[in-house]
Amino acid sequence: MNVSVVLFTSDLRLHDHPPLRAASAGGRAVVPLFVRDRAVDAAGFAAPNRLAFLADCLRDLDAGLRERGGRLVVRSGDVVEEVCRVAGEAGADEVHLAADVSRYAQRREERLRHALEAAGVRLRVHDAVTSAVAPGAVAPAGSDHFAVFTPYFRRWTRERQRDVLGAPRVVRVPDGVGSERLPVDEGVSQGLAAGGEREGRARLAAWLRRGISAYEDRHDDLAGDATSRLSPHLHFGTLSPVELVRRARRTGGAGAEAFVRQLAWRDFHRQVLAARPHAADADYRPRHDRWRTERTAHGDIEAWREGRTGYPVVDAAMRQLRHEGWMHNRGRLLTASFLTKTLYVDWRIGARHFLDLLVDGDVANNQLNWQWVAGTGTDTRPNRVLNPLTQARRFDPDGAYVRRWVPELAGIEGPAVHQPWKLRGADRGAVGYPEPVIELSEGLARFREARGLG
Ligand SMILES: Cc1cc2nc3c(=O)[nH]c(=O)nc-3n(C[C@H](O)[C@H](O)[C@H](O)COP(=O)(O)OP(=O)(O)OC[C@H]3O[C@@H](n4cnc5c(N)ncnc54)[C@H](O)[C@@H]3O)c2cc1C
Repeated sequence: MNVSVVLFTSDLRLHDHPPLRAASAGGRAVVPLFVRDRAVDAAGFAAPNRLAFLADCLRDLDAGLRERGGRLVVRSGDVVEEVCRVAGEAGADEVHLAADVSRYAQRREERLRHALEAAGVRLRVHDAVTSAVAPGAVAPAGSDHFAVFTPYFRRWTRERQRDVLGAPRVVRVPDGVGSERLPVDEGVSQGLAAGGEREGRARLAAWLRRGISAYEDRHDDLAGDATSRLSPHLHFGTLSPVELVRRARRTGGAGAEAFVRQLAWRDFHRQVLAARPHAADADYRPRHDRWRTERTAHGDIEAWREGRTGYPVVDAAMRQLRHEGWMHNRGRLLTASFLTKTLYVDWRIGARHFLDLLVDGDVANNQLNWQWVAGTGTDTRPNRVLNPLTQARRFDPDGAYVRRWVPELAGIEGPAVHQPWKLRGADRGAVGYPEPVIELSEGLARFREARGLG
């Protein structure tokens, strides 16, 4: 037998794809397979924005394979049953898969290994496909993962990256393996980005040419929107993190260094989750919080979700999320801090809302960043609270970001837009913007008391 199956999951690309390269070595025939996994839907991870982006990715992957003489096989159902079925139909003797970090992905790998072994098929799992540095490749003495970013980053930087692989010229797919039609899905956010490897590569090229050099200076500028926006491509694997690190380093300069550091943050969270999969739902470092919940803080939570908290910079970011299915990192930080620390609401409620809308919504990055902000994660200063007014003054000094996303305030010029409650009576009514849901000092006092800070 000379047939391999490549199971695509979060690695929807042809460039720099070690499983595909290994599967087709020596001219072997390959079945490129994607399974619309019922369990992912059942777990509530199949949010419309991500399904729409995924549909673009699959269409593009299929087109790329067709240009090379192949095609994508799409099935839906239980992923293990479908892989075994396809391997049987194709007469395959091996299945290739990219390693991944979530509890679900680890369990999937285990179930696949077991089922394929019983059928006499070998499972080959490839590292450094969905991460630049594989989880566990660097670890401190006496532990299976790094719990603090700075020492992790030091080690991560010294790791040698594997060479970047080109896309295959030809992909030979055997006859007789049927496919369902490619899915067509629509997102809920009007301003949703388009998916697919071609789109990702075009964005990357433009970023390296024009954006990256100013990244260090401008990445926190909310209105400037000067980050790469490559996160959905990293989440779906239409871009390779290894390729990104290598090409950014080749570009060089302070901007590229700062960008590579963010890619290391991505790997950092992935290695935490790989070692502690329960950190997707449970506190990584419990602080004995007695969070407010949907039952006790419903009104505040709804105001936050809707972008009607009365704090313009918070509301602007929450509305950007709804409109684009994406939010600037500074917005994510300050809205998450506002929910968990100022409103003292359980981080899981915020993380869930983000996952419902984010096109880059990712178990490792979302849950562990939420925990970082909530102070239950890896932040070495777990009780820091981001004041939305200070954040607004620093990262939206002229108020342009607020005016872009909060139309009720669009007529207020300059930084006054951050404190509409200071406007005189008549002006205030005219803008139709809500009063603050809470006094910041009140929120701070409650949080400090809850954390036993006196
Ligand atoms: C509360 C909260 C929730 C988040 N949820 C997610 C999520 O679900 N998915 C997601 O990909 N990112 C998440 N992030 C991290 C970060 O906000 C986004 O990766 C980033 O804003 C994406 O925009 P970009 O591609 O333009 O980033 P850039 O600034 O251009 O950075 C390049 C890449 O580095 C990685 N990166 C950047 N910042 C971080 C970070 N803080 N942690 C880990 N990786 C990072 C991302 O892969 C990003 O695409 C979250 C952050 C916070 C504070």
